[in-house]
Amino acid sequence: LHHARTEGNGVVTRFAPEMHEVGLRNVELHEELSHALERDEFHLVMQPIVSLAGEGECLEGECLVRWNSPTLGFVPPDRFIALAEQTGLIIPLGYWIIETACRELADFIARGAPDNFKLHINISPLQLQQDDFAEGLLGCLERHNLQGKNICIELTEGVLLDDSTSVLPQLNTLRSAGVTVSLDDFGSGYSSLSYLHSLPFDQLKIDRQFVSDILEDRRSESVIASVLSLANSFKVPLVAEGIENQETGEKLRRMGCVLAQGYHYGRPQPFKNWTVKLGV
Ligand code: C2E
Ligand code: CA
Ligand code: CA
Ligand code: CA
Repeated sequence: LHHARTEGNGVVTRFAPEMHEVGLRNVELHEELSHALERDEFHLVMQPIVSLAGEGECLEGECLVRWNSPTLGFVPPDRFIALAEQTGLIIPLGYWIIETACRELADFIARGAPDNFKLHINISPLQLQQDDFAEGLLGCLERHNLQGKNICIELTEGVLLDDSTSVLPQLNTLRSAGVTVSLDDFGSGYSSLSYLHSLPFDQLKIDRQFVSDILEDRRSESVIASVLSLANSFKVPLVAEGIENQETGEKLRRMGCVLAQGYHYGRPQPFKNWTVKLGV
């Protein structure tokens, strides 16, 4: 059921009633989001990244932001990160995420996690465009007695859309300090191959969409096999994410994938829920 509306210029546009509702909810989302940081409504969770070889040890994890709004309830990051990027909130939120992630990681190591544990942090392209980004991250590591090797930054191909020249120098500064770079959601965008060419990286992370149906879909299997051979030729590990069952993990292991992440190994949870003997 659609309303038909005639515009002044005689063009008839059709819109579904729910579009109006979504519009209103976005205004509310926008309003609530603008206060969420100062009201301390965010927290971080961590999801293990396990080795597919040997005992399945866990020496890495990805940190993910969560927003519990008192009025809207749980709002998934897919709904608010893009909005935070549009409004500029991603900059202070991004610094809060880095600061909090380092504090949680230092605490996790103090509780007995290996001191080379590597925490992955998702970084918005807008954050990386800040001239003081690298300096800020390294300062944070120092304050929390962490080393560069404790952090991996996960980047999406949006980084390339930016014409600022400071991105590469910042990545180089970070990598000289031991911070690693993972190319996230690999294969899902239009320019995955061009970012291989333009950015320094230490790891590829293949998009979940290719992992989830690898057992049934030969095409997804082919995509994974190709990305694996790319990763091998660049001599970097491939991380598969979104693994929800044993069979998928087993198949990826046989194909040569070395690191895995997904509900099968552990759902994202607050750091304090992770006991130090991580892994399976
Ligand atoms: P992403 O970086 O690709 O993160 C992986 C997403 O897959 C997470 O969703 C995670 O909870 C989900 N996931 C993990 N294992 C499984 C699985 O086995 N099955 C399924 N169906 N999903 C799985 P989440 O936490 O909702 O985050 C969504 C996206 O929001 C992230 O995608 C990332 O792009 C963005 N995001 C999350 N946290 C941050 C952050 O701290 N900073 C920035 N800039 N973006 C973030
Ligand atoms: Ca990620
Ligand atoms: Ca991803
Ligand atoms: Ca994603």
